[in-house]
Amino acid sequence: MNVVPGSVTNTIEHLKKHSLVKREPYRGVKLTSKGKKLALNILRRHRLAERLLTDILNGEWSDVHENACKLEHALTKEVIALLEKRLEHPKYCPHGNPIPTEHGKIEEEECRPLAEISLNENCIVAKITDEKRKKLSILASKGIKPDVPIHVVKRKRSSIVLCVAGKNCTLSHDIASSVWVKVMERGKHAKRK
Ligand SMILES: [Zn+2]
Ligand SMILES: [Zn+2]
Repeated sequence: MNVVPGSVTNTIEHLKKHSLVKREPYRGVKLTSKGKKLALNILRRHRLAERLLTDILNGEWSDVHENACKLEHALTKEVIALLEKRLEHPKYCPHGNPIPTEHGKIEEEECRPLAEISLNENCIVAKITDEKRKKLSILASKGIKPDVPIHVVKRKRSSIVLCVAGKNCTLSHDIASSVWVKVMERGKHAKRK
């Protein structure tokens, strides 16, 4: 998580005090239903804020996550409702991750990480799970983003060779691990939005 252990303990104690998490024997901590509801609401605000930045303000999709982390706290319920309407109720953030509804429902699409895909299996990119600028700028430079056709050409010890929209490129396993894809049926084309 990239934080010092002491701050994790403090945060968990704080969340417990507000009954957002509970301790589970042998399993660590788990979100309570109140905690889950709050987390989904933050995800909703975050992902709609990202769409505001890309769709309305023309920001780069690889560059909006960090600003959305700040914006998500400033958007009131009313602003979110207006924003969602103006964006015509998008189902995904610019990175392909689903936007929870105002009732806290989230629809996860069936997709798999690149690591589980056989060689030469036709896929399209479904979502990028690590949205940080540093990783996304690498993926963006190779043309990897949601809805782009992709297949695995070769696996090497330290990297993976991919064919992205007809062009070969190489990624480290670390970068590739945040790319999730949908396997295509032969001869079929899919577009989600
Ligand atoms: Zn984000
Ligand atoms: Zn996103």
